[in-house]
Amino acid sequence: ILRLEAIRKVYGKHVVLDDLNLTLRSGEVVAIIGPSGSGKSTLLRCINMLGPATSGRVVVGDLAIDESIPPTAQQLTSLRRSVGMVFQSFNLFPHMSVLRNVSLPQERVLGRSRKDADKRSRELLARVGLAEKADQYPARCSGGQQQRIAIARALALDPQIMLFDEPTSALDPELGLEVLLVMQELARSGMTMLVVTHEMNFAETVSDRVIIMADGKIIEEGPSKEVMRDPQTDRAKRFLKAVK
Ligand code: ATP
Ligand code: MG
Repeated sequence: ILRLEAIRKVYGKHVVLDDLNLTLRSGEVVAIIGPSGSGKSTLLRCINMLGPATSGRVVVGDLAIDESIPPTAQQLTSLRRSVGMVFQSFNLFPHMSVLRNVSLPQERVLGRSRKDADKRSRELLARVGLAEKADQYPARCSGGQQQRIAIARALALDPQIMLFDEPTSALDPELGLEVLLVMQELARSGMTMLVVTHEMNFAETVSDRVIIMADGKIIEEGPSKEVMRDPQTDRAKRFLKAVK
């Protein structure tokens, strides 16, 4: 459902992503871990063209994008529809109600009517455990609640794939747990997910596969439990020892 082919990203002389290849099957949950600066966020940004790579190809379903040429408006739109993204910061609109935050992108991107969008929003807010917050403003919600709203907002566009970039790292552990439980439920429901995380427990128990990155390369990948418990390379061993 997602294929990255020879993704390369260079800033000046600095090679941030070094000809990276990666394939995700439908329904697969893959965690990406690795030291700070290894290129994890940059990789996610290449997938949804928030920061295109220098070269390489991203294939999402039947959409293929050459990273070295600017995407057409049509390609960008279909990419925004098929790939949902959740960041460390929630980026909700403070002057809009929770419901409006979730509904507006559906109207803008999918052309849904306000009534249909609101109906879908209420379903998704219930799914993330926040039905009662619909008519409040984001400022009245905790960080964990705001992140769950951001997840509902991304799901509202019916994406084929969800990308997460350290969705819990700005949260206290207790609030992070609420978010991780929602992500776990999403994983069980069959959503295809690529999750950059520092939650080693999530990587080991929820994801099907773990990828360890260092210096813009994949240094190790495989079934979660194998990679987390018995890494093969010295670099991966050192990283896991430092974070576990
Ligand atoms: P973290 O775990 O801290 O979030 P990361 O693995 O997500 O790290 P990236 O944010 O992808 O790492 O950054 C990878 C490298 O790219 C870093 O060395 C960073 O300094 C460099 N980099 C990122 N953005 C830019 C930019 N706009 N210009 C120059 N270098 C950049
Ligand atoms: Mg990052």
